[in-house]
Amino acid sequence: MTSTTPQNAPFGSILTDVMAVATFKDGQWSAPALRAVGPIEIHPAAHVLHYASECFEGFKAYKWADGSVHVFRMARHFERFRNSARSLELPEPAEALLAEMVNTVIDRCRAAVPDAPGALYLRPMLIGTMPNIGAAATPSNEAMLIVLASPVWDYFAGGLKPLRIYVEEQATRCASHLGVVKTGGNYAAALGPTLAARREHKADQVLFAPHGEVQETGAANFLLLRDGHILTRSLDPTFLNGVTRHSVLTMAADMGYRIEERVFSVDEMIEWVATGEAVLSGTAAVLSGVGTLVRHGGTEIKVGGGIIGPNTLKLRSALMAIQQGTAPDRYGWLHKV
Ligand SMILES: *Cc1c(COP(=O)(O)O)cnc(C)c1O
Repeated sequence: MTSTTPQNAPFGSILTDVMAVATFKDGQWSAPALRAVGPIEIHPAAHVLHYASECFEGFKAYKWADGSVHVFRMARHFERFRNSARSLELPEPAEALLAEMVNTVIDRCRAAVPDAPGALYLRPMLIGTMPNIGAAATPSNEAMLIVLASPVWDYFAGGLKPLRIYVEEQATRCASHLGVVKTGGNYAAALGPTLAARREHKADQVLFAPHGEVQETGAANFLLLRDGHILTRSLDPTFLNGVTRHSVLTMAADMGYRIEERVFSVDEMIEWVATGEAVLSGTAAVLSGVGTLVRHGGTEIKVGGGIIGPNTLKLRSALMAIQQGTAPDRYGWLHKV
């Protein structure tokens, strides 16, 4: 028998013992309540269970060496959450309500925040709970908002392993107008192609490049790096506007990198990786280096030398230093709780 100690628990598999809950009914939000983490009761006809009215966020709180706890870019995550709610026609929680719930959960779980490079991962989620199975084309006028928290440890405890990425040049990750929305339905849509790529090509993730234009992976943005230069797709509604992506581009510009945000093709990516680097960006792993691209038919392309490149490591540690309080927070990205 193997046992799972927290330090090697898979990301997100452990929750703190409290969550914050608020409900929306008759046009208003209830006061939030702190509850033991456990089953919630919703009607089997709830809108979310039939018509997928759900969105979520994911961000981290870091414990600094002095014991203080700091949340990374909370306001920007709330703004995205509110945009997601609006896109799905769900009641939009006010920023003040979200802040109160997140701050309360962190305060109650302070002792459960792991030391760096671990963090407390915060997961606000919003679901449509109106009980009506005839409401396929009607927004849910009832909702539940929950903030969960999960202690997470070093994502790369097993070492920085270069990723093997399957390049999907036809299928889309999700409906094109919802790419920018952090909603569970998009993950459901990407699961089949991701598992197929794992089975057929031993790929860790799928890079979606519909019509041969590089977009993002199932759960992370995609950037090409080389000395002094970054290329990534310009923002549009088809993919997620990542906070890590924005943070890396902001920092890198100040470090002297030329930032190019535009549409680029699979062919151009392949030219780039002959000498350059490729990374996935997202809250969970910050930046993960790509070692191999696999194309339709199984053709393999090594990225750089198939190892994690110097620009990946440099940008990754620069961002982690801000998050962990070992470099000054010159952009005002952290919020002390
Ligand atoms: C959450 C997410 C990302 C990463 O966003 P961050 O704000 O950097 O964590 C990228 N792509 C998709 C599809 C996502 O759901």
